[in-house]
Amino acid sequence: MSALVTETDLGSSAPHGAPALPEANDRSFREGAFGHARTLSCRECGHEVELGPHYACPECFGPLEVAYDFPVVTRAEIEAGPRNIWRYQALLPVPADITESPNTEPGFTRLLRADNLARELGLDRLWVKDDSTNPTNSFKDRVVACALSAARELGAKVFACPSTGNLANAVAAAGARAGIKTVVFIPSNLERPKQVNSAVYTENLVAVNGTYDDVNRLASEIAGEQEGWAFVNVNVRPFYAEGSKTLGYEIAEQLGWRLPDQVVIPVASGSQLTKVDKAFRELIELGLVDDKPYRIFGAQATGCSPVAAAFKAGNDAIRPVRPDTIAKSLAIGNPADGIYVLDICRRTGGAVEDVDDTQVREGILLLARTEGIFTETAGGTTVACLRKLVETGRLDPTAETVVINTGMGLKTLDAVGDSVGPAATIDPSYAAFTATGIA
Ligand SMILES: *Cc1c(COP(=O)(O)O)cnc(C)c1O
Repeated sequence: MSALVTETDLGSSAPHGAPALPEANDRSFREGAFGHARTLSCRECGHEVELGPHYACPECFGPLEVAYDFPVVTRAEIEAGPRNIWRYQALLPVPADITESPNTEPGFTRLLRADNLARELGLDRLWVKDDSTNPTNSFKDRVVACALSAARELGAKVFACPSTGNLANAVAAAGARAGIKTVVFIPSNLERPKQVNSAVYTENLVAVNGTYDDVNRLASEIAGEQEGWAFVNVNVRPFYAEGSKTLGYEIAEQLGWRLPDQVVIPVASGSQLTKVDKAFRELIELGLVDDKPYRIFGAQATGCSPVAAAFKAGNDAIRPVRPDTIAKSLAIGNPADGIYVLDICRRTGGAVEDVDDTQVREGILLLARTEGIFTETAGGTTVACLRKLVETGRLDPTAETVVINTGMGLKTLDAVGDSVGPAATIDPSYAAFTATGIA
């Protein structure tokens, strides 16, 4: 056990079904343990709950979200910070000394001007926010870094998650660096590279025969029974989710402190999309960027597209589905933040689109061959949805657009393995080479 994990009396009487981390009134947190976060606020009814291992509103069971008393923050202060997500410490529920705790230090990934892809799609100005270069090669390192901070401050003994793959990789790696026990749960049909990318960091990779939604239900049950377990996306979910805001902050900062006109974001639970919107609104509120309209678009794979289906049908509720797609990192059939994604995409004038698995594969190759970026199936989905949104006229080709690449193609090799490979296999002779017709 790392000395950095706060030792605490966890008590022995956590009620059945309750989050089994210590209640806020059972112990006092370190002063400033959650930075400038003030409270947890219900997204449905606004009821406030004190900061702690809570995720559901005691009044209406709505999801809780971190609310802040932000200090005055200047661009210069942020720019003087570390080249990772902790440059935005003042805007996150983490302590001022966060950089002193071992963490994977994700973020400040590349924002690449994508002129070749733009030309191919008929867009004027396009950027790729490339989160495949995070420590475990997906955007999940951002959310896990914030969840780890909360887990420590709450005195957790075990760092855990149900995952569609990338989250397990990030939790296992961050836990290893922090010296805290990790247990990660995945659907047993997950791609082998994603399994290996967890198993190298942790001895406790648990493969469950079922869908992600089955794994998630099991995790909630364990969280209710086992004391001291921090499930990053269950009982510390409000803190975890805030990590995705850093994608929005970075896009704005890297554009020279302004917001883009349009952003295309993949949707699994929908958490990331809602937090990029929250980040943009906070930057405006704090005077760090000029207020301007922006449009947010969600991307799903047709084989698991409950949010796109609701968007297209004009429904306010999401009908859960049983996933069947190669985009496994997006395969959440009952997305927790789906209704908020609908709200945001409708309010901003965006849309939620979906593409089939053939288009997902084409999206992966399109990004690779135009921009030299190898994305996983989630990114293939996002690029293919970008193309479809342009073709159907819902995305303005003259407006500045950012597409988020959330993951790394080496983790989903099989998705394109059949369609790419050697152009020829030859003997080592010049004649054999010329016979290929490549020269
Ligand atoms: C988890 C994941 C997403 C979706 O994240 P949500 O916040 O659950 O919507 C997108 N892309 C990749 C690569 C992921 O691993």
